[in-house]
Amino acid sequence: MYNDENVFAKILSGAIPCKKIYENDTVLSFYDINPKSKIHALVIPKGKYIDFHNFMNNASSDEISEFFTTVNHIATNVLKLKDFRIQTNNGSKAGQEVFHFHIHILG
Ligand code: AMP
Repeated sequence: MYNDENVFAKILSGAIPCKKIYENDTVLSFYDINPKSKIHALVIPKGKYIDFHNFMNNASSDEISEFFTTVNHIATNVLKLKDFRIQTNNGSKAGQEVFHFHIHILG
């Protein structure tokens, strides 16, 4: 079950600050606090989804399409990356630490 106390929920509510990169009605992007590459961005949907699996099974087709289109927009147009990696960790055994679905953009 989604936990409203997770750190990304607190960033979305404004309780915790972030270094914002991009925001629209459904998506927020900000810099990772502990970067694993020169540019390390996170992209999260504003809806309450625990992980990739939960997002793909519960979000509407429009929401899924808009989310991944926005990930591409942020990587290529906002951050202006040519070469980059995108990653998501699904579940604790895969290394997921924050249980609000997010994509890592590593440039
Ligand atoms: P994951 O292991 O895939 O769940 O990734 C969680 C990511 O969130 C890690 O790379 C953390 O460094 C990052 N993180 C944790 N707290 C914050 C925060 N307050 N602001 C930005 N990034 C954070």
